[in-house]
Amino acid sequence: ATMPPLLAAIANGGRRGVLVKSAVAMEALGRTTVVAFDKTGTLTEGRPHLESVTPIGELDEDAVLALAAAAERPSEHPLAGAVVQAARERGLPITDATDFSAVPGRGVRATVGGTAVVVGSPALLDGLAAVPVARLEADGATVVVVIADGRPVGLLALVDRLRSDAAETVARLAELTGNAPVLLTGDHPAAAAQVAAAVGISDVRAGLLPDAKAAAVWELRAAGHRVLLVGDGVNDAPALATADAGVALGGRGVALAVETADIVIVRDDLSTLPNLLGLSRQARRVVL
Ligand code: ADP
Ligand code: MG
Repeated sequence: ATMPPLLAAIANGGRRGVLVKSAVAMEALGRTTVVAFDKTGTLTEGRPHLESVTPIGELDEDAVLALAAAAERPSEHPLAGAVVQAARERGLPITDATDFSAVPGRGVRATVGGTAVVVGSPALLDGLAAVPVARLEADGATVVVVIADGRPVGLLALVDRLRSDAAETVARLAELTGNAPVLLTGDHPAAAAQVAAAVGISDVRAGLLPDAKAAAVWELRAAGHRVLLVGDGVNDAPALATADAGVALGGRGVALAVETADIVIVRDDLSTLPNLLGLSRQARRVVL
């Protein structure tokens, strides 16, 4: 006997390094009318590197970086990996932090040698002294602030490369769904705008916390869309769960996202997505 078309499409996905969790997920994928992308780790490679350290106050570059790296070491966020790697490359000692906690979509906090350290989005600076964030952000870098005992001590500028297949994937998905994809990101508007322009997305919503990403997905659904959310998993779990179909890029193996997503792209390759969407369409057509 031949395999039912939906199962055949799922099996086909498996051969291409895509894990589809159910026939229901495959059907939902085929009904997509708009695709919403996360930025960091999804349209970009998710392997940022540290471009500069700007001290504010008495601590020098290395001291700022060492403090940040100590606080970031327990984090699974790609920005954290870049900070730790940069500290290692400079041969800096990385102290063991205690009391680590992650604030999703914002940053991390930890105690490092008796100092309360926060590393994260400039949005955390609310109410603190103005620091030269905008100048660094204008270049499209993701700027992260390092705060020690409540005072900003430095800024880190991090840069991530676009995935080589991002623009082509966006274009193919726009064509397949008939609607322009949307970008949802926790990063600031300048960094978001740079990536959006490079991949050909004009609908950009920046500065979103994880729950706000989910709310944006919900708004699209309320407007009558069937939403496919594509995320790398870091901070995307609520949005993945809210979408009609959620795809996680599983290359980094973020457990929560792999659990929440309906579909996991195991091989870290964005361009399999339009193929899979096309297959799910064909499968549906045969079923109907
Ligand atoms: P995106 O939506 O682009 O994938 P995230 O939601 O993961 O981004 O993060 C949003 C913002 O929160 C980042 O741009 C950064 O400013 C801050 N942030 C989150 N986690 C960290 C971290 N571990 N270290 C520093 N900054 C962080
Ligand atoms: Mg992300």
